Order: sequence, then structure tokens, then C-alpha cells
Amino acid sequence: MKLSFHGAAGGVTGSCHLLEVGGKQILIDCGMFQGSHELDEENADHFGFEPRDIDILLLTHAHLDHCGRIPLLVKHGFRGEIVTTDATRELTRLVLMDAASLQVEDAKRKAKHHQRKGAVPPAPLYDVPDVLESLERFGRTVRYDAPIDLAGGVRATFGNAGHILGSAWVLLEVEDQGTRKRLLFSGDMGNREKPILNPPTPAPPADYVIMESTYGDRAHKSLGESVEELKEAILDTLERGGNVVIPTFALERAQDLLYFLRELEEKKELPRFLSVFLDSPMAISATEVFRRHPEYFNPETSHLFHDGKDPFTVPGLHFTRDTAESKSINHIRGGAVIMAGSGMATGGRVLHHLRWNLWRKESSAVFVGYASEGTLARRIIDGQKVVHIYGEEVRVAARVYTIGGFSAHADQQELLDWHRSSGSPAITFLVHGEAAGRAALAKALGGRVEEPTLHASYSL
Ligand code: ZN
Repeated sequence: MKLSFHGAAGGVTGSCHLLEVGGKQILIDCGMFQGSHELDEENADHFGFEPRDIDILLLTHAHLDHCGRIPLLVKHGFRGEIVTTDATRELTRLVLMDAASLQVEDAKRKAKHHQRKGAVPPAPLYDVPDVLESLERFGRTVRYDAPIDLAGGVRATFGNAGHILGSAWVLLEVEDQGTRKRLLFSGDMGNREKPILNPPTPAPPADYVIMESTYGDRAHKSLGESVEELKEAILDTLERGGNVVIPTFALERAQDLLYFLRELEEKKELPRFLSVFLDSPMAISATEVFRRHPEYFNPETSHLFHDGKDPFTVPGLHFTRDTAESKSINHIRGGAVIMAGSGMATGGRVLHHLRWNLWRKESSAVFVGYASEGTLARRIIDGQKVVHIYGEEVRVAARVYTIGGFSAHADQQELLDWHRSSGSPAITFLVHGEAAGRAALAKALGGRVEEPTLHASYSL
């Protein structure tokens, strides 16, 4: 059998692994490349395999860097079945629709520049009709820990990865030259201390492990401390008469934050006049998907839900879907917590809120997630005094908070613990992280560890 890697290289993330065994080609994830610079070229580039030859795609979760190139895969001839959990299927629809609209807008913007230069304008990678067509490829849905038989004698088991709603690690049991082999793909691993979901299920025994390494060099702060920091940041900003702007990922982080704000409110630790805005149509829709799937909740959240309490509702909460409603937030001078995407402030509505608040010393920007090199979030976190938003110079006078403990990713110890229960795999492949994370994790793991480059292929 042959295992090849088509989704990440040199600081660029994006998950896409291909297993060829018993005459079948099985793809695990088909993510968009995401990183510090514009990655249109990498994303539009050849996959490194022939999409029409792929029999089946197993999807670990709905983040763009795991599912973002599915419409492109279908556009280039993939006619196989996409297998995943029901929650991932619903969330992927949201994520891909959103990605298509962004790409169409982006292409329109670039077209203007190109036309002025007399060049041929670029086409979007894919559009909404492409997404609709790719949604047709979704076939069976799976439940955690219930193995299903795929073509060619391959059996797949999805287990809870505890990373976002519906997220999974995938174990493949294959027949190769008369022997049974087990390959374990981690997808993205969750942080054990997450508020809504159950912690990841331990890794089953495996001969080969393909594992993410995003936080391979870090230890998270405890969740309790982070919630306390969030509370302090809000109270302090309210006292100064400003707003709190939180760039947030639409999936999971937004719901986690709503969960904590509700908890703080119930404990009467936040003032009653607080206004909370979830200013992200995608996060609002994702919250609805959460409400439809209480079966993924941990016992505590499940309990709340079955008691008729909505874990994601805070008094003073406004869901703002319309652009007009979103713009009206700009007139609020103080007393508001504004959550909007994108999480790394690379685009989306949060840019407007940062433009209206960053220069005000009474306001705050609170970063609650990972920010890669070169993003606006990272520049603000790193202490730049002036940043550019929509071509305009904006002075950073607001107070900047970075709260580390809300991560949706496992830290080094959690990755090591998870890996340990896989036994002693012949090879561990580290994917999906920056070089420092991979190096530190490789050292801590010991044994044979590979760090595959883009399109690297291994005969196993
Ligand atoms: Zn992820």
C-alpha cells in the first residue's frame, strides 16, 4: 500500500492524505491550504493525484483546512462517496457555502485590478453551484465507534476527536498482501478541557499514526484561568467605557464563548447591562447546528439542554445576520462585547469592528485563538502600534489581550497521551503544524517519526 501527503508543507496547513490499497484510492480530508500569504496558486494547483480516480473521501471535520478543496475535487472529476458524521456534514455545508461566496467576492475585486492592467481576470476557485454539486457527493454518515465497511475490504471507524462538533479521528483497517494493517489518522485533536464536547476518545492500537502537531511545542493554560482572564478583560473594558472586540472562529469558539458568558452571567459575575453581539451569519448558523445535535454534548451541557436551558444564550445577546444590523454596532461607544469573524482578522466583519475600536484606548481587542504568522491578528498580538485595515492606517491604542486556554487543539501532553494509547506504531507521520511544533513533538515522541513534505509518498 502507498500513503501520500497532499495537504501541508513548510508553514502552510491544509489536510489531504491519500491511501492506495487493494486497488482502491481513499482520500482522508481535502483541505484548503491556509497560511501567511495568499495561497490561491497552491489551492488552484494540481492535487498531486487524479481526482477522478479517488473512490472515497473520509472527512474528519468541517474546518476549511480539512474540507475546503472538496468543491474543487468534484470540479476536477471526483465522483466517489464522501463519508463523515452527520454534524460534520451539516457544518461542512455552511463552511463551503461561505468559502464560495468569499472567493467569488475576492475574484470580483481582483478582476477590477486585472482589467485596469489589461490582463485576464482570475476565476474564483469555485462558486456556489460548485458547492451544491459537491454536496451531492455526501453519502453515508457514520456514528462514533461504529465501524463501516468501505470498498476493497477496508473498514473505517470514526472516533470522537473532541475538536469541534462532529470531529473525528479515523482508523482504517486494511488488508495488504495477506496481512491486516491499521492506520490511524488523528484529524485535529481537541483540547480535553473543552466546555461543550466530550474529550477525545483514546487512540486505538495502530501500525501507523498520522497525527496533527499544531500545538506540539506548547502547554495550554487551564480553561478556568482563561475564563477568568476573559471576565477580567470584559470588566476592565466596561469600566473604561469601551467595547470588547473578539475576533472569533465561527465554529466551536463562538459557541464556547457564548457558553462561558452564559455561565458568568448566571454566577452574576457580569453586569446586567452588557450587550453581546454574535456578528457572524456563519457562527449564528453553526450555533443552530449545535442545537440540533445535543447527542455530541458532554454530560454537563447535555443536562442543561435537557432541562430546557439553552447553553448558548446570554441575556443581552443579539444575533446580527444582516449587514445593516452589523453596521449599526459601529455606533455603540461602550458596554458591548462584539464577536465576529474571521478568527485571525484576515477578513470578514471583525475588520470593521477593529477599525472602529482599535484606535480607542477605552476599547479592547481580545484574541482567543491561534493566529498564524502574517495575519492581522498576529500583528496586533505582536504589539504593532499601527496596522492597516482596508488600506487605512489604524493606530493601536486599545488594550490587547491574548487568552491562550480556549484552544480547540490538544497541547503537547494531550497529543502524547493520545498517541501513547496507539501502542508503538512502526511510523508516526507528523502533519499539519508549523516546524517548531512538529520538531518538538517528534523529539518528545521518540521512535520513527516522519515529517512528510508536500506530495511525499511512502510505500508501507
Ligand atoms: Zn480543525
